[in-house]
Amino acid sequence: MKHLIIGGVAGGATAAARIRRIDEHAEIVILEKGKYISYANCGLPYYIGGTINDRSRLFLQTPESFGNRFEVNVKIEHEAVRINPSQKTVTVRNNKGEFYDESYDKLLLSPGAAPIRPKIEGIDLEGVFSLRNVPDTDNIKNYVTQHKIKKAVVIGAGFIGLEMAENLYHLGAQVYIVEKLPQVMAPIDFSMAQLVHQHLADKGVQLHINDSVVKLAKSENGILSYLDSGKIIEADMVILSIGVRPEINFIKDSPIKIGETGGIWVNEYLETSAPDIYAVGDAIEFPHPITGKPWLNYLANPANRQGRLVADNMVFGNKEIYEGSIGTSIAKVFDITVASTGLPAKKLQEMEIPFHSSWTHSGSHAGYYPGATQISLKLTFDPQTGRIFGAQGVGYDGVDKRIDQIALLIKLQKTIFDLMLVEHTYAPPFSSAKDPISIAGYVANNIFHNKMPIITWREMANANPEEVFIIDVRTKEEYEMGNINGAVNIPVDEIRLRLDEIPQNKKIYVHCAIGLRGYLALKILKQHGFDHVFNLSGGYKTYAAATTNFENRENPIFKKAEEANDFQVSVTDKKKFIQIDACGLQCPGPIMKLKKGIDEAQTGDQILISSTDAGFARDVESWCKTTNHILISNSSEKGIYNAVIEKSGVKNKADYSVVPEKGKTFIMFSDDLDKALATFILANGAAATGEKVTMFFTFWGLNVIKKEHKPKVTKSFMDKMFSMMLPSNSLKLKLSKLSMFGIGDRIMRRLMKQKGISSLESLREQALESGVEFIACQMSMDMIGVKESELIDGVSIGGVATYMERADRANVNLFI
Ligand code: FAD
Repeated sequence: MKHLIIGGVAGGATAAARIRRIDEHAEIVILEKGKYISYANCGLPYYIGGTINDRSRLFLQTPESFGNRFEVNVKIEHEAVRINPSQKTVTVRNNKGEFYDESYDKLLLSPGAAPIRPKIEGIDLEGVFSLRNVPDTDNIKNYVTQHKIKKAVVIGAGFIGLEMAENLYHLGAQVYIVEKLPQVMAPIDFSMAQLVHQHLADKGVQLHINDSVVKLAKSENGILSYLDSGKIIEADMVILSIGVRPEINFIKDSPIKIGETGGIWVNEYLETSAPDIYAVGDAIEFPHPITGKPWLNYLANPANRQGRLVADNMVFGNKEIYEGSIGTSIAKVFDITVASTGLPAKKLQEMEIPFHSSWTHSGSHAGYYPGATQISLKLTFDPQTGRIFGAQGVGYDGVDKRIDQIALLIKLQKTIFDLMLVEHTYAPPFSSAKDPISIAGYVANNIFHNKMPIITWREMANANPEEVFIIDVRTKEEYEMGNINGAVNIPVDEIRLRLDEIPQNKKIYVHCAIGLRGYLALKILKQHGFDHVFNLSGGYKTYAAATTNFENRENPIFKKAEEANDFQVSVTDKKKFIQIDACGLQCPGPIMKLKKGIDEAQTGDQILISSTDAGFARDVESWCKTTNHILISNSSEKGIYNAVIEKSGVKNKADYSVVPEKGKTFIMFSDDLDKALATFILANGAAATGEKVTMFFTFWGLNVIKKEHKPKVTKSFMDKMFSMMLPSNSLKLKLSKLSMFGIGDRIMRRLMKQKGISSLESLREQALESGVEFIACQMSMDMIGVKESELIDGVSIGGVATYMERADRANVNLFI
């Protein structure tokens, strides 16, 4: 029996090895159009970034070693160009460019998928790459070795795009990601992707979502990427990673059926519509085990499994049935792990399959054992039967094992009740007595049985204050560090004493940080006669992540590892080096621990504080600025945020404030045209004298810095209402007096023009050009629904801490 296999990597090589193991006498021929077989394509990005530094380790086998061990005739640089099922032959172009026909008894197609190269201008420029195989890798590696890559654009934020982003970052590049969808990583839901966006922003990766590259062009210093939004990014190289499609051109003229998704149609034995021709891997479509609809699934595990299974069918006849893949996948994105299995909510919605979702955030292991970090899990399940549809996980440690366990349950068609049956190994360094999977099961169970009615973060964002009363049951300190617009703070321990503050005639939305205290509050309220109480699933953590704009952030919190390590040299023997472990504590716990440590330290002592609270990295930066202690380094590794702070010469709290420098700060609260004009004139005057000027735009003042031409943004109902009622940009501002339904405003603008006085827009431009810092108030933006992309370029987003720090340094502070 002669087995002919097209494609010698994941599916093809696996099948060849298996055929040999079960049939010592078969003739096996592999046709591979490239030079390499059985290599680790999943490792290619890490070789480019230098994590894998020995190129030879990418090759699991050479054509010779594979051929010898399995007695396979490996024909590299042999491309199959046509299949001739009636003659049982394949037409091949060999390495000399000659054509010949290769016969078979059984044929296996495992040609994989090729990167999509859109027809945009400049796609073939030098410095523009896509990554699929070893030659692509060698090209990219040579390029990054020969050129100093300071900036790199990655187009497309799937798994490979994000892996490339991380590896280029490690090579020292400022990375820009451009993604057409509203999120990175299509297989997960938006709220979970926002956790990834947050991490990317913290690392200083600039994210441009809802945007696409429409043209590439050479510039003097590199390559210009022209974005649909009008932005232009100049970089030293561009990686295209916008997806792949089955590489099946060579079978197009054959009678082999192509399915509705564009993959090769196969039956449950992985046999194509043509007898004795089988197909596996990225090139096939197969019914999804949950939806029953055909889909394409570009993953290595299914390709390998199919390769083994199909070998048995090729040798023994069609006996082994393939059950289908649910798309279990995982990626490392800098320090975090992102994994998913089954169907996310958005897919279920698209397919009109009813479902429930639940979000939980649990410790990767016991909180009291050092190094515990948070795992965020989202489940989707059938509201009628409890069958698990899908799971997504984001975290630092242990995400893989949780998603793997749930993946098995999904494949076995199990339910959320089975999550509680999972008996997991437990000791403090590995898990908790209640594992994240058990907790997800308990929560889903409560939702299923309506013991805990929930609302999603979207429902919370769209809550109508006329109908809903929002209670934040976290502590006062947590509330003050950030809260949901309109939420009233009644900590869970006070709720029984403050029942009279809660209206009886409204729906009540409770929430805490992650959901647990919200659940307790809900139970208390229900038993005190409040009928319509709902808990925010995933708590403030999910809400805050899902509703924040992480796009196009200018300032990374963390320095690159090599820069962060510089601080080590400044730690001398004379200073005391104190370590504080604040891991497992939620905000504001770590800052309070730090304050205590600083109070007890001597001037010059350095404190290394470790925290697992993701907000800590920003908090510590602001805290050091306002207290005048020196932030020596701020870094993160595997979910642990480490900051080194040196105690400065201040003796007591009163001395913490910094000596004012010469500078001016303006709080632009109003959006009156005349007041805005006066403010910019003052700001420009101050900037002209060389002073540091900061303008903080809050509430209606945000209208002064709105773009005239805004990109499309998704907004909640309330945010849309606000946008409709407020001036859409500075040209629509009105005078505080004599506006006369807009007539006065127009007269004023005309008079200014006649008298040669700069318009508000050019005064604003001048201010930016002379280095005036524009800060938009994050809280006000959230409140009146203004998105970052609606603001003019050059505005940074900040909170009160940022403003206070600037005001501390100024000697004049004006509120307009
Ligand atoms: P491939 O392994 O791609 O093999 C197909 C082979 O067929 C190729 O060598 C090709 O040259 C050859 N071929 C094509 N047409 C012809 C022809 N006409 N004649 C002869 N030969 C032909 N998956 C994961 O699950 N996890 C990961 O982390 C991951 N990382 C990845 C990183 C990169 C950079 C890439 C490119 C892929 C990654 N994948 C990952 C996907 C995974 O590699 C694929 O799903 C898997 O290799 C598919 O196996 P396959 O046999 O279908 O195709």
